[in-house]
Amino acid sequence: MFDSVILKKLTIVILAVSLGGILVLGLTVNLALDRQFQDYLTRNETARQEQIVRILGDYYRENNGWNGFSDMGPPGFRPGGPMGNLRFVADEKQQIVIASRRFMMRRQDKEPLSSRPIVVDGVRVGTAYFGQNVIQNIITAQDRVFRRTINRSIFLAIFITGFLAFLVAVLFARRVSRPITAMNQIAKNMTAGNLNCRIGALPNDEIGELGVSLNSLAERLQQADQLRKKMTADVAHDLRTPLATVKSHLEGIIDEVIPASKGNLESLLEEINRLTELVDDLQAVAAADVTIRHFQNEPVELESFLKDIHAKMLPLFQEKQIIFSLTPVPPVILNIDRNALSKIMQNLLSNAYKYTFAGKRVDINAFCFGHSVAITVSDEGIGIPAKDLPNIFERFYRTDESRNRDSGGFGLGLTIVKELVEAMGGSVEVSSALGEGSRFTIRFPTGD
Ligand code: ADP
Repeated sequence: MFDSVILKKLTIVILAVSLGGILVLGLTVNLALDRQFQDYLTRNETARQEQIVRILGDYYRENNGWNGFSDMGPPGFRPGGPMGNLRFVADEKQQIVIASRRFMMRRQDKEPLSSRPIVVDGVRVGTAYFGQNVIQNIITAQDRVFRRTINRSIFLAIFITGFLAFLVAVLFARRVSRPITAMNQIAKNMTAGNLNCRIGALPNDEIGELGVSLNSLAERLQQADQLRKKMTADVAHDLRTPLATVKSHLEGIIDEVIPASKGNLESLLEEINRLTELVDDLQAVAAADVTIRHFQNEPVELESFLKDIHAKMLPLFQEKQIIFSLTPVPPVILNIDRNALSKIMQNLLSNAYKYTFAGKRVDINAFCFGHSVAITVSDEGIGIPAKDLPNIFERFYRTDESRNRDSGGFGLGLTIVKELVEAMGGSVEVSSALGEGSRFTIRFPTGD
């Protein structure tokens, strides 16, 4: 029945609290009733004693003293009768006038007595002595039945409520503990390396939110795991080709099959440069992660920022005879990380440079749209095949065209662009036509 510790604990706590509450309530009611009952009995007894004292006073007045009282005694002066609790009567000189049979028989018991003066016309003519165990004596059968009924009702209430509390406790605790148990299992699976499982049917509360977070954590871990595997495979693949070329060339030179000519050594150096490039690119990805974690947002005046970048890269484009222009920029101040924005622009522009032929154009534009600003880098380069467009922001993704070209990189530049842009709350998109050119657009909120 209790398949989890948390279920057992919850049930015990709920049961303890509800039963404890009922018990305290029952005891309080019982105590209050008891007190009321005692008060009622005491009041009754007092009234009875006063009545007896009145009867005794009347006798004294009618007979002008206690003469003959001992012979006949007042009516009902016997144990259990109306005067059953009266033990004895003493006259004004404290001489016993009459005593009950019970008193005479149990005199040696030293029963504690209470007394009441008998006053006739303002003069004390004697004292009536009453036994102390009055309450027991006068508890009537009805009184007992009443008390018993009340107690029975209280115990019945405790029993029924206890049973109901138990049912509710088990059902509630089960409801609460089920998703927790499921989450616990998922967490254990994740620790054991099984990232496929997810929690279903989550409640609409904080526990449910925790479950959703756990599910998305599993999702992210799975993605990171897949990415790590893919990246390792891609890096290995990209290392293999230049390494194999270098190896075969060096072996050829050692075996004197290939002459150690300047040209051959230069082609070796080229391969080594490609390897260095790859390492640099990998380092750039790691650096982007660091930049994201240490973003330092500052006001960046867009026009001067873009003019600066344009001026710095213009000689490179001019060298390749590409027409490189910057159209007028709206007066916008962005609150972003300057280094990150520089990296983004450098990557986009170096791609435009790589994939555009001499005599063609590369342009930087900036526009304002409502609460956002868009910066575009357009080129009249080779363009990107439509089938590749959805994937070009993925790590190590390259189009076939760029793979076949010496100028192509390792497919990491756009990954860095996307990660940086999104980490700053922006977005990046691309449109391209094969053989006509491409346009990359990055958007940032302006915050006003
Ligand atoms: P790479 O370092 O290979 O350029 P990127 O991540 O920057 O890697 O780009 C991914 C791929 O997208 C490139 O290999 C190239 O095929 C394509 N690409 C990116 N920018 C352009 C562009 N301006 N024109 C044509 N193709 C591009």
